[in-house]
Amino acid sequence: MRALILVDVQNDFCPGGALAVPDGDAVVEPINRLAREAPFVVATRDCHPEDHGSFAEQGGPWPVHCVDGSVGAELHPRLERDLVDVVLDKGQAPDREGYSGFEATELERLLREHDVDTVDIAGLALDYCVKATALDARRAGLNVVVHRGATRAVEVKPGDAERAVDELRAAGVEIVE
Ligand SMILES: [Zn+2]
Repeated sequence: MRALILVDVQNDFCPGGALAVPDGDAVVEPINRLAREAPFVVATRDCHPEDHGSFAEQGGPWPVHCVDGSVGAELHPRLERDLVDVVLDKGQAPDREGYSGFEATELERLLREHDVDTVDIAGLALDYCVKATALDARRAGLNVVVHRGATRAVEVKPGDAERAVDELRAAGVEIVE
């Protein structure tokens, strides 16, 4: 069984959001196309308490984003919700990074319950949460395909996207456009 994992396709990561990824909303249409073909679709949401350790005011690297219950934490309105089987929130522990969809969530158990052996991954952002989720999927023994055209990168440092792709390939992740 194959599953599609949609990483953090949320308002705060799209233009106009608190931590907008450049061109972030460009992933929505390709993701809808992938989701129409996928037998099982899981969407993760970054979903933080107000005092999350990743926020600048707590000494973390990011502005306040994706606070639980806020509009910014909601899935992008053009993402076709009917195509999503399960929504999983991550990043809820104040003292943990929460980049990966596997970190302190039910994701691995859920995939095992559905006899998933291969995951397709798309979403935001390639050089953070998509990368971390894909690497953890490999650690969980899954075949992993990242659909690069359905991701966008933050690129805090220029070249971060390419470095992420190199790291993913080295871990055995297949990259497709
Ligand atoms: Zn976050």
